[in-house]
Amino acid sequence: MKVAKRFRWEGAHRLPWHEGRCRDLHGHSYEMFVEVEGEPDENGMLIDFKHLKNALAPMVDTWDHATVVAETDAKLLGIMRESGWRHVVIPYDTTAENICVYFADHLVNEHRDLLVERRIHTVRVRVAETETCYAEAVRSL
Ligand SMILES: [Zn+2]
Repeated sequence: MKVAKRFRWEGAHRLPWHEGRCRDLHGHSYEMFVEVEGEPDENGMLIDFKHLKNALAPMVDTWDHATVVAETDAKLLGIMRESGWRHVVIPYDTTAENICVYFADHLVNEHRDLLVERRIHTVRVRVAETETCYAEAVRSL
């Protein structure tokens, strides 16, 4: 059985090495589906949706209306720090793929007890930057 919860936030980023428009700072209305897979309990519930929400909503709130910056992007990081503009730093480039990895690893590493208690064995995080494209990361417990 799989269940999923959707999250949304507005954010900016750039990919400094990109040959097209993604090189420059720009924004997305990000949409993320966090899907967990396992066996439902005797009540027919895999996980309470509010527990998934509680696990990830604080991070999503931190990211909302923020610029996500790769720690290697010294130029953008400098601008963000100097200006005091709202930003989040991640340890790798800010591709949709890496944002999936970041959220999936957070869920598996920081909320492992919840997942194990609910007998969840697989987590999938899907992040869409636009209506027509998404990336997905899979983690097994
Ligand atoms: Zn983009």
